[in-house]
Amino acid sequence: MFKKAILSMGTVFEVSVYTRDGYKAEKAFNNVFNDINRLDDMMSNYKDDSELSKINESAAREPISCSSELAYIIEQSLNYGDITNGAFDITIGPLMKVWGFFKFKKDGRIPEKGELNSELKSVSYKNIDIRETVEKSFLKGAKIVKTISFKNTDTQIDLGGIGKGYAVDSAVRVLKGSGIKSALINFAGNIYAYGRPPERQSWVIGMQNPRKSEDIIGSFEIKNRAVSTSGDYEKYFIIDGERYSHIIDPRTGRPVKGVVSVTIVADTATRADALSTGVFVLGLDKGMELIEKLSDVEGVIIYEDSNS
Ligand code: ADP
Ligand code: MG
Repeated sequence: MFKKAILSMGTVFEVSVYTRDGYKAEKAFNNVFNDINRLDDMMSNYKDDSELSKINESAAREPISCSSELAYIIEQSLNYGDITNGAFDITIGPLMKVWGFFKFKKDGRIPEKGELNSELKSVSYKNIDIRETVEKSFLKGAKIVKTISFKNTDTQIDLGGIGKGYAVDSAVRVLKGSGIKSALINFAGNIYAYGRPPERQSWVIGMQNPRKSEDIIGSFEIKNRAVSTSGDYEKYFIIDGERYSHIIDPRTGRPVKGVVSVTIVADTATRADALSTGVFVLGLDKGMELIEKLSDVEGVIIYEDSNS
């Protein structure tokens, strides 16, 4: 087993590959890390020259062409917006900023009601318009390109709730292409268990106590599936004893209260990531209802009793 990690997307991306061939492992690490950095350069909100930043900058003025990969991630995000009845919404960007989550958590602040209402006008994934257009050129013939535009001048896309999951799925494809048959990927709580671990049928995944990380509250086994956990302890600030977490309810514009963590098991890491964020917003009852409805999905919701 060989294990390596890099810092990307503001957090730790870690991969363990199971092979005896150190040379093969080294090549696989290189391929995977290049891929993760490539995706960060594409999706980052922190890099002004990322493809997403350029779209955010101009798509309210005119349709901007978009790579097919980024268009796919955005289309998936819109789909999860529909599945979660609008709880998962990649246009929460302006709300993240107004609560001070954008750069550093120490900037956390409570916005005025008026401020929230004015930001809320731009927040809806329905403001995103993706189209296919056919570009004809004399030399290359017809080519299908995707363009993206925003229907509201202040709309901004934030892929923080799905991008790491997509990156994990992409890493699995790269590992396969590098001849690796067994690996465990962990990108800040977005896990994919690929293949079979040595001498076992499946991978044992332990669940942390969200309020006491050294405490394991349970475990389950998976193989060729993903697990993602969204928690109120990842990024948050506390003012007057109240916890404000970085998962925002797009309907109210406020950080979700009551839910502590959501763990989702699904076939892909993209799906697990988006659904863990979406179910977090839906809360205990509606969230569980959705998990039950999706036959390939399992989940655990940990919540705080508001009376205690
Ligand atoms: P983590 O980043 O800790 O793994 P999540 O996957 O739950 O946690 O993603 C939280 C991030 O998702 C936030 O930092 C923000 O960028 C984005 N986000 C917050 N609220 C929503 C929402 N309602 N829908 C979609 N994305 C959201
Ligand atoms: Mg998520």
